[in-house]
Amino acid sequence: MEKNLRILLDDVKNGYRLSEEEALDLFHVRDRRVWDIAATADEVREQRVGNDVTYVRNQNINVTNLCVNSCGFCGFSKKPGDDGIYFHDKSEIQKKAALAKMREVSEICTVSGLHPDFNARSYCDVYRWIHEAAPGVHLHASNPMEVAFAAKKSNMSTQEVLTVMREAGLESMCGTAAEILVDVVRKKICAQKVSTEEWVRIIREAHAMGIPTTATIMYGHCESDEDRVHHLAILREIQDETHGFTEFVPLSFIHMNTPLYRAGIARAGATGREDLLMVAVSRLFLDNFKNIQVSWVKEGIKMAQLGLIAGANDLGGTMFEESISKGAGAVNTDYLDPAEMQRVAEDVGRPLRRRTTLYELI
Ligand code: SF4
Repeated sequence: MEKNLRILLDDVKNGYRLSEEEALDLFHVRDRRVWDIAATADEVREQRVGNDVTYVRNQNINVTNLCVNSCGFCGFSKKPGDDGIYFHDKSEIQKKAALAKMREVSEICTVSGLHPDFNARSYCDVYRWIHEAAPGVHLHASNPMEVAFAAKKSNMSTQEVLTVMREAGLESMCGTAAEILVDVVRKKICAQKVSTEEWVRIIREAHAMGIPTTATIMYGHCESDEDRVHHLAILREIQDETHGFTEFVPLSFIHMNTPLYRAGIARAGATGREDLLMVAVSRLFLDNFKNIQVSWVKEGIKMAQLGLIAGANDLGGTMFEESISKGAGAVNTDYLDPAEMQRVAEDVGRPLRRRTTLYELI
């Protein structure tokens, strides 16, 4: 490392913006200095967002698991003729939405497989049905892949799709489908997905229209540290321009039931060191993001708790229903009781606070 690590970390605490090379050096650290990086990220978190650990009361509704794509890391999607295909119609979706409302969630989140018969209208119908059954609940839905798919199926521009989705009730968009924003990696893990350029363009379009989005990375498969840094640099650059990202969510790869792992292309997920550094380096590098979330669904609650003292300030959602990570082989992903979130937050000396999707405290 060109600069001594201690000096570099002190500089970051005082507002110095890490270069990509420096972030890469941090990802390479393998010894006890990991704790120094995590401790600095924790201090920066305190300076930037204070001590609250936040969470959102939310529920997922996955409309269908039928998907025209075949992403190598996906254990959720099905092809025609497979066992276990589902497709929820209006009455089932509205039943789920009404149940979510009864559970007093403030957010319903919906992302699904790319159903071969879906077009822009299908997505808008789903959003309207949800709003009818759960009025007042924030709809966090879609992602750049779904927007691009709907645009293609309806012969519309992605901007037109975002416009009709917003009219149908879309309030914020998921920053998923990002995976790793490096096309050579995308070719290996999700060749049919939107390219890096398309993902960035659609996110920028959403932000320009006043639709906030989250930002994600999926790591721990076949990407390099350089790829991770490149991904973070793209997000930082967008955020400098738009300020439209509400949070950054590192998603640790769940490998068990995925074609990518079975084919020997991906490794068996990230290690504990990598999980910790992903949170910490993100906090230090993404100096224009307020919120870094640790995903208890992907990392388990114990690792998520360590993330809270390595730069993260948010525990994500209660969920109530989760299929994507479960499909890939994760366990205990359906629901996390806020009482358990409170236990882990208070165990590291911090208060748990409920928030909305857009990080207003409730
Ligand atoms: S990750 Fe999404 S787009 Fe890819 S196969 Fe799974 S459901 Fe389909």
